[in-house]
Amino acid sequence: MAEVGVSVEDELTTRTSGPDLLALHESIADLFATQGDWRRAYHHMRSALDIARAGSLRDPLTSSYNRRYLDQRLPDLPTSRGLAVALVDLDRFKSVNDTYGHLLGDRVLCRVADLLQEGLPPDAFCARYGGEEFALVLPETDHSRAVRLAEAARARVARHRWSELRPGLRVTISVGLAHGRTPGPHQLRRADDLLYAAKHAGRNKIAYQDSDSARVITYSE
Ligand code: GH3
Ligand code: MG
Ligand code: MG
Repeated sequence: MAEVGVSVEDELTTRTSGPDLLALHESIADLFATQGDWRRAYHHMRSALDIARAGSLRDPLTSSYNRRYLDQRLPDLPTSRGLAVALVDLDRFKSVNDTYGHLLGDRVLCRVADLLQEGLPPDAFCARYGGEEFALVLPETDHSRAVRLAEAARARVARHRWSELRPGLRVTISVGLAHGRTPGPHQLRRADDLLYAAKHAGRNKIAYQDSDSARVITYSE
């Protein structure tokens, strides 16, 4: 019977991933448990737990990190050079759904998530914050670099060849960027206020506070 267990492990663990792999480890754990092989049952339950934990921190649609991950990571990130949080919201996304359908809207969300993640430095991350909103978190980033990265993200989305997905499709984002040294709900609220300013200024813009005057600047190249 042990031979069966080993070959199942070898074959299937190389061909499955995510939820499938979780179910597989559970089944193998059950199998070993019925044989009284507790050491191997335990090993597979641990693997199942690791997969479940990793999955609970990801958004199932876009595969980007989710809000739970954001809330867990944010308080413990290094801030000696400052940390930036950029809240990103798709512009007029309701009309994308209304015009092209929800499924196409879902594909747009996935592609935006990829475009946002693409240009980030290795220690930064993108998390889906809610419906059509994402948070970019840039640890150990000074203010001017954060502005450059946020603007680059905006431009990457605006210049993407959306019409290859559907003729006539155009997608842009607005971004509110808050820089500071005490990450948490307060910084997220500031980013949200700035996002509102970017929308108000006409969309497809980033908004941030000038580091000297604290004046709100809305910008797009
Ligand atoms: P604004 O520029 O002011 O942000 O306009 P908006 O249309 O993007 O904002 P609004 O809040 O009116 O609409 C957001 C839309 O996002 C409505 C909702 O159906 C859509 N949405 C949220 N989550 C998802 C999702 O997972 N998939 C799809 N396809 N649409 C989603
Ligand atoms: Mg929104
Ligand atoms: Mg929107």
